[in-house]
Amino acid sequence: MTASSAPATSYKDTLNLLQTPFSMRANAKVREPEIQAFWAELQLYERLSQQNPGESFTLHDGPPYANGALHVGHALNKILKDIINKTALLQGKRARFIPGWDCHGLPIELKVLQGLKSSERAELTPVSLRHKAHAYALEQVEGQKAGFRRWGIWADWDQPYLTLQKSYEAAQIGVFGAMVLAGHIYRGLKPVHWSPSSRTALAEAELEYPDGHTSPSVYAAFPAVELPEALAAQLSAAGLSAETATAAGGLAVAIWTTTPWTLPANLAVSVNERLDYAICAVAPQGDNAAPAVSHLVVAAELRESLETSLGLALTPLLSVKGADLEGIVYRHPLLERTSKVVIGGDYITTEAGTGLVHTAPGHGVDDFNTGKKYGLPVLCPVDEAGNLTAEAGPFAGTNVLKDANPTILDALEGTGLLLKQERYEHRYPYDWRTKKPTIFRATEQWFASVEGFRAAALEAIAQVEWLPASGRNRIEAMVSERGDWCISRQRTWGVPIPVFYHRETGEVLLNQATLDHIQALIAEHGADVWWERDEAGLLPAEYAAEAAQWRKGTDTMDVWFDSGSSWAGVLGGIAGGESRAPELHYPADLYLEGSDQHRGWFQSSLLTSVAVNGHAPYKRVLTHGFTLDEKGRKMSKSLGNVVDPAVLVEGGKNEKQDPAYGADVLRLWVSSVDYSADVPLGPGIVKQLADVYRKVRNTARYLLGNLHDFDPTRDAVPYAELPLLDQWMLQRTAALIDSVSGDFQRFEFYRFFQALQNFCVVDLSNVYLDIAKDRLYVSGAQEFRRRSCQTVLALVVERLAGLIAPVLCHMAEDIWQNLPYAVAERSVFERGWPTAPAEWRRAELETPMEQILELRALVNRQLESCRSGGQLGASLEAQVQLELSEGSEPTAAALAWLEASAHPSVDNLADWLLVSALQQGGSAPAEVLAEASEAGVTVRIAKAAGEKCERCWHYETDIGQHSAHPSLCGRCVAVLG
Ligand SMILES: [Zn+2]
Repeated sequence: MTASSAPATSYKDTLNLLQTPFSMRANAKVREPEIQAFWAELQLYERLSQQNPGESFTLHDGPPYANGALHVGHALNKILKDIINKTALLQGKRARFIPGWDCHGLPIELKVLQGLKSSERAELTPVSLRHKAHAYALEQVEGQKAGFRRWGIWADWDQPYLTLQKSYEAAQIGVFGAMVLAGHIYRGLKPVHWSPSSRTALAEAELEYPDGHTSPSVYAAFPAVELPEALAAQLSAAGLSAETATAAGGLAVAIWTTTPWTLPANLAVSVNERLDYAICAVAPQGDNAAPAVSHLVVAAELRESLETSLGLALTPLLSVKGADLEGIVYRHPLLERTSKVVIGGDYITTEAGTGLVHTAPGHGVDDFNTGKKYGLPVLCPVDEAGNLTAEAGPFAGTNVLKDANPTILDALEGTGLLLKQERYEHRYPYDWRTKKPTIFRATEQWFASVEGFRAAALEAIAQVEWLPASGRNRIEAMVSERGDWCISRQRTWGVPIPVFYHRETGEVLLNQATLDHIQALIAEHGADVWWERDEAGLLPAEYAAEAAQWRKGTDTMDVWFDSGSSWAGVLGGIAGGESRAPELHYPADLYLEGSDQHRGWFQSSLLTSVAVNGHAPYKRVLTHGFTLDEKGRKMSKSLGNVVDPAVLVEGGKNEKQDPAYGADVLRLWVSSVDYSADVPLGPGIVKQLADVYRKVRNTARYLLGNLHDFDPTRDAVPYAELPLLDQWMLQRTAALIDSVSGDFQRFEFYRFFQALQNFCVVDLSNVYLDIAKDRLYVSGAQEFRRRSCQTVLALVVERLAGLIAPVLCHMAEDIWQNLPYAVAERSVFERGWPTAPAEWRRAELETPMEQILELRALVNRQLESCRSGGQLGASLEAQVQLELSEGSEPTAAALAWLEASAHPSVDNLADWLLVSALQQGGSAPAEVLAEASEAGVTVRIAKAAGEKCERCWHYETDIGQHSAHPSLCGRCVAVLG
């Protein structure tokens, strides 16, 4: 498909060869920034997003965290958004895109602290820490922004939303205030996920569950010291007197735990009232030592398996219901106190353990709820660093992640009440930032009471379109099962929880007046004001006189509350709120993030929006998977399989090894993957993408190169006068536009990627342009057969540019800038989404064309066998004879269709087969080089008669008839004449 296949003779200059400045090589490192500068100069994004005639379209950006270099996950996310936005802009919509960043939170606070010398740390105040964190976040934002811009992402880059902006913080306080006033916010002592390594409470979304965590699995006996009367009577009847049972070495309840450090906090043992329990006589098995008790209570269903795991014979003496055990008083195995057996709930099962649950209300949610039922104190003898306190008696000072477990187990072993211990691998929550285990710990925290609006949240979920549909099940299950949302954090870098506590009574001051006042202060000064001013400077006028009685709180909000308020801070979805731009609306048309955000941003945004306004902040939610390497593994430095998008786009230090592929190749990758699942990327895939990119580019170059002397206003051939081949090509183009329009509508970009390749490689290169070479190069420049072809090339290249523009935006613009004739629009994006006139859609052209392409494939296979046998060189050295017999009706119909064409100079089979002559029927050629039959069609290949024309390479019998051009055929002589 290049000019090199044209004759290299003196007649070469008489051919119409390719001419275009659109280069074969992309030179993306230079050219893409030039194109971006051109867009900026045109104010293209700004004009289209604000002045387009269509409706507004709001894809609301989920803010990436403002820390660290961009990775391919960012690329997948932001490029998907950009493809959707650019499509919307091309379709005439006002798709304004305000990019955002999540700027508060622990990782930035830690970065700042790590960067300080110890002397600087000593002088650090909350305000100076906040200033440093602010500066650090802005610096990170700038770095990431430059990367996003280089990828060709269109957005309001000069006015992004940052969760640290005053207006954003004020809107967030507005969301919090509305929830307070609606009764959805409360303060309570409650066990929460607590990270001793970060010394803060964590939300579900801040946890991860790494493989391979092991805990000690511990079975222990808690000796009974008092029995309820009814149970005592039953036991006595079974042969065990209450006196024996409650004496030392008598009856005990068996419990199981994987957190021995919580044993000092034990205040009850819980049973399921509906389960059956067995009271068993205990005897050692094999070499095992006898325990210090004679009888154990275990769940009946677990008795046999416990015999094995504990190495004890458990002979049932009496079977009772859990309800019968309520009221047993037992002695704490390690501390001087007694507690009771209580009724827990259905969370107590026989899946593991003993069926009797060690209950520490300060260290577990179920425990807390059960304790609440029985009025038990919320004992939490663990401080914020994970050290046991004086309330833990002899274990005070040990650490839950270090020496508390072994110390407690040693002590337990010494009592003879340790029945068994072993390592146990299970799912266990870790702090996603420090990668250290978390614990449950009861603290005073602020909560959003999800219970208060759960039904409304589930109703809102049902109103949203979730893509893929399974997303709905995910978030529905999470919202229906989740507990209240702990929104307070014990950190400095965040938005304050704007509350005052009475210095003596601890009473909380949080009402419309204080909320409004602080929201106004933050709108004016930013959240720093909370730390810069004292109480008198923060309280509204009506509290000025009593300011000394109040102490401002020191907690900040969970960063998920920050980003979860963006519908208010950016889209203006709150009473008195204002959106960042007139094109933005609430609820947004679309949220698009990774599928982990069902737990994160999709959910926090939903909860706040429902709590304040009763509906979701989005109409549709689209999710994408995660990026993996080519073998389906996570990318990691240690595996050396990380694809750095910056290197992919701009090239590495060694450009031979890591060439600069350009942003378009990265964007092409995003379009190529089925992102509904996890998506692979690696060097092999990049090479394949670069090949596809080159194929599209070369196709475009060929189209442009053949239009250098074409002016549509002067030379275009009207559709009705076009040959069949050309009308077929336009039918294919219309079909492509229709299918790609649907693909983009459904966000199925990988189908576009396949359709684009198919169109360039098959329809254009292998068929249309292959046949067109003779028309374009050999014909006279202004001949009908050339101008009609150019008409098609111009119509196709303009549409091809439009269709690839959302994905290959730089290449599309490069094509547009190299159109060799005048067009009304300065940019391809001003042309709008490609359309096809109704007359192009002629599906009836497909059937005969398919028949002929099948015939062509049959002929090509024979030509190829002749070529490989050395009997033929170029296909033009051949002539073809066709013979049609029974079964060939479809082919015959197609040939009749072709023969009926008004344009035999284009629509003739010899040209379509790229041979010099074609004979239908008649006698077979004298010397047949190859022969084949298929479906009643026989094809015979022979050497063409005559000699090779030096200009067009056709074999013709009229060569030598013109003395001025003795080596040319009559057709070529006429062209030169
Ligand atoms: Zn010729």
